[in-house]
Formats: sequence, structure tokens, C-alpha cells
Amino acid sequence: SRGLAYELANAGGDLANKPAIVDAQGEHSYARLQHDITKLRNSLLAQTKDHNLKEERVAYLCPNGYHYVPTQWSIWASGGIAVPLSHLHPPAEMEYFIRDSQASTLIYHPAFESTIEKLSPAVLSGLRVMNVVDALSSAQETPHIEEPKISPDQRALIIYTSGTTGKPKGVVTTHNIIATQVDILVSSWNWTVTDRIHHVLPLHHVHGVINALNCGLASGATVEMAPKFDADKVWKRWIEGPHNLTLFMAVPAMYSKLVQAYDKMSPENQARAREACFQFRLMVSGSSALPSPLFNRWREISGHVLLERYGMTEIGMALGNSASDPELRKEGSVGYPFPGVALRLHDEQGNDVTSLHDTPGELLVAGPSVFKEYWNLPEKTAEAFTDQVWFKTGDTAAQDTTDGTWRILGRNSQDILKSGGYKISALEIERELLAHPRIADVAVVGVSDDVLGQRITAIIKEKPKVEGELEQLSPLTEEIIYQFCEPRMAKYKIPRAIKVIDYDVPRNAMGKINKKDLVRRFFG
Ligand code: ATP
Ligand code: MG
Repeated sequence: SRGLAYELANAGGDLANKPAIVDAQGEHSYARLQHDITKLRNSLLAQTKDHNLKEERVAYLCPNGYHYVPTQWSIWASGGIAVPLSHLHPPAEMEYFIRDSQASTLIYHPAFESTIEKLSPAVLSGLRVMNVVDALSSAQETPHIEEPKISPDQRALIIYTSGTTGKPKGVVTTHNIIATQVDILVSSWNWTVTDRIHHVLPLHHVHGVINALNCGLASGATVEMAPKFDADKVWKRWIEGPHNLTLFMAVPAMYSKLVQAYDKMSPENQARAREACFQFRLMVSGSSALPSPLFNRWREISGHVLLERYGMTEIGMALGNSASDPELRKEGSVGYPFPGVALRLHDEQGNDVTSLHDTPGELLVAGPSVFKEYWNLPEKTAEAFTDQVWFKTGDTAAQDTTDGTWRILGRNSQDILKSGGYKISALEIERELLAHPRIADVAVVGVSDDVLGQRITAIIKEKPKVEGELEQLSPLTEEIIYQFCEPRMAKYKIPRAIKVIDYDVPRNAMGKINKKDLVRRFFG
């Protein structure tokens, strides 16, 4: 790899006629994609003085489908910094991303014309605005402009963090960092030209952009894009075929929706669904913790041992279970560091954790896949590193030194609870509670308490009641939860308060829970 984010695998050669992208409109070959990237690049560069975007920020809003791809790639080929927007964001948030990144240009797909019209004139004024479909369909060939020279160290992408714990921060990566993140996954997960990924993820986070899309196009695979994640439609696609999919990646909340949809199928369709899963060679989960009951249930249904991995916008993927040997994939574990990823654990004083075996600490990450900076936030960037090299993830982790695998215990800021003098991982309690037959979804939070410091509290969505099951008629109580937890965990970890809700635990687009918001909402 030349260290550039937009390299397509041999598009002019053997792959020319191969589908790069498949969407609701049909197949789009590598040759067509290359042609469209060049055409869009020419239109973009024609509007600049030196025929080079020179790290100008270009925001873009496209549905999950073909046009997203030549848009992003043409920004890169023009020397610009790509800033993906999502229709999942309300206008105010979209305006924030455009403003914060100081975008010079906005590219949009006509499907979102009305969304663009809702943006405030103050935000739109001064922006070059380009309709990607018009630009590509115009019969007039824009004069060919030489591709500007792009350096691997040039900034290429700003992805905003999921905003789970506060205002989203713009994470800047260079061409070289992106190429490294892609290389790591392409080799670790054995991507090849024979792969075909079913892409159902949002396209404004690394999971959807880097792991699923860039890796696919860098290895000459085919990326089949669904307009959005819909569990019934996913099953329908898998069952009805063509049975040519090899890879699937999703967040745990999506796997959970797939299980729910499976449970509603007739026995004949369930049999077809199980069989349809044979087409895949690998199924990956990440972006938030994969609870063991879901891991086990998915294995029963699909025959696949989910590969759980851990990553962040700031570091790409850092830890992952084995791709080659499903038997090595451990439930509740995120496996081993990816090649080139250096890890360290710090205690609360910022000293290295010395007794490494299973001792929790804050995870620090270093290596060539770590981001360059937070956009426009030099102090935040400086604070985020130790010795300017080690990025402090804000997540607590522990290593099992007997086999080298790592566990993620959660975010320091919301999952590591302090109660009665103990430090407790909310994720571990959630994992246990999800095994309860009446619990469909749960978030364990800490609620301020004068005596305990924090009172362990479970916010529970109950499963729909099954007719004729008498014991379910009684309300779910603290006592029932206590009885269930007692044999499974230390007493100090058992939730002392519960709050039962009859809707899904609120999550953002990446299936993540903002627990501060939850506590404010229910106990504020
Ligand atoms: P913000 O930084 O704005 O609060 P965010 O941290 O959710 O948002 P992302 O960069 O998308 O934004 O998410 C990274 C976080 O996701 C990690 O720090 C970690 O807490 C969580 N995460 C990712 N994968 C896993 C996993 N396999 N298990 C547990 N947590 C995970
Ligand atoms: Mg974060």
C-alpha cells in the first residue's frame, strides 16, 4: 500500500468488471467507480485555485448506497478532508459538524434535498454546495485535471465520536493512519477478492467506514450495501439469496434485533434462516460489549462464534479475537492486540499496573493506527496522551496472562461503578442479568447514594409476557433480581434498586448507552 486511504485494489486491471458496490439500484463495477471518482474529482478541483483541495474540509450527506463511495473517494483524491454526515443526525447536530469542521464544501445526494433545505442559511452561506447525482450525470465532461500529489501524512478524515459521553469530538486521521487501520484488518481478517460483505452499518463511524467499506474496496471485494439496518430485511436477504455473502459486521444491538426477528419466524423459516448462515465465513461484533447470552444464542442459531473486537474512533481497532480459529474466540473477551498495536495499563495514579494478571486498569494504546489529533481541540488532544505517544482510552481493561486475552470492563466515566468501597464493572453485571428469562434489555448504572457512594441500579426492559406463565404476572421486583444474582456474583455487585421500563433502553446510532443521561432521566 502507498499509504493512501483511497487506493482501490487494481481497479483498472482484473477487477474492472467486478462489482465494487451493490445497492438497491444494482451493481456498480470497479471501473465505473474509478470513472466516477475521477469525474467528481475533476468537478471538485475545477472550483479550486490551485487544483488541490489542500486539506479543505468537505462534508457530505449520502444515503447508504453507491453514491456515498465515489463522493468520499473523490474528496480524498482531491487532497481534501472527508467529513461524513448522517441523516440520523437532527439538523442542529449536522450544523454543528459542518460548523465545527469549518467545511468549505458540502456534497449531498438528492434523496436528502429536504434535509439540506432545513439547514440554517447562516450555515449554508459561504459553502460550495454540490449535488453528487447531478455532477455525475451531467453529459458535459469536466476538463481532466491532474490528480494532485497526496502525501501519506496529509489529513484525510474527520470522524466525530459517537457522543456517548459528551459532545462528539472530531477525530482527525491521515491517509497513512487510515491505510494502516485498513491493512491491519485486511490481513488479520483475511479479506480477499472473493469476499462479499453485507454492509448494514451507519457510514459516519469507523465501524461502517473503515472496517466494512474501506477494507472491502482495498482488497477488491464486493460491498453490498443495505439502505439501513432492518432485521427482517437482513434475514430475508440471507434466506432468499443469492447465497454469496461471506462477511457480516454489526453492533450487539443489531444481533439482538436479529435474534428477536428469528424468534418470531415460523419453524420452517427458522430452519431456512439457520441454513442461510452457512454462506458466511466470518461474523464480527463490536462498538459496544457483546453480552455472553447473546454470544451463545447467536452461536445456537447461526452456528457462528461471533468474533468480538474492540476499537475506538481514535485508535481504529486495537483488540480482536482470532479470525482463523473460532474455538479460540472467548466469550466476554476481545482477544489479542492487532499487529502493531502496543498496549499498557495504568492505575488511578497513572502508574503502570505491575501485577498484570487480570488486574484492571485504564487501557493505553500506541502505534501507527492511532489518530493525529482532535479537530480544533489542541488542549483535549494534549490531555488525551501520556508522553505524547500513549493514548488514554478512558476504558478499563484487564489481561488474562495465562492465554494473553483481554477483557473490557467498561468506560471509567460510566461503567466502572464505586459502591461500598468496591470498584464494580457495570458491563459484567449486565452480562449476567441478560441471562434472566424475563429480561430483554438492561443498563446497569450508579445512582448517587450517601452511604454507598453509588447504588448499583438496573434499568430493565422486561420481555413480553408469555400467556399462561403464571409467575410472570407478578411484577419484577428487587427481590427477584436479588435471588437470581446471589449465586452468580459477589453480594456487593448485586443491584439494590431496579427500574422497569416497557421500551428499549435508549441507545445512539451505534447502539451505545449514555448512562449519565439515563440516570438524569430516571433518578435526576
Ligand atoms: P464519545 O467519545 O463521544 O463519548 P464513544 O466513545 O461512544 O463516544 P466511539 O469512538 O464510537 O465513540 O466508541 C468507542 C468506545 O466504544 C470505546 O471507548 C469503548 O467504550 C466502546 N467499545 C467499542 N468496542 C467495544 C467492545 N467490544 N466492548 C466494550 N466496549 C466497546
Ligand atoms: Mg470515546
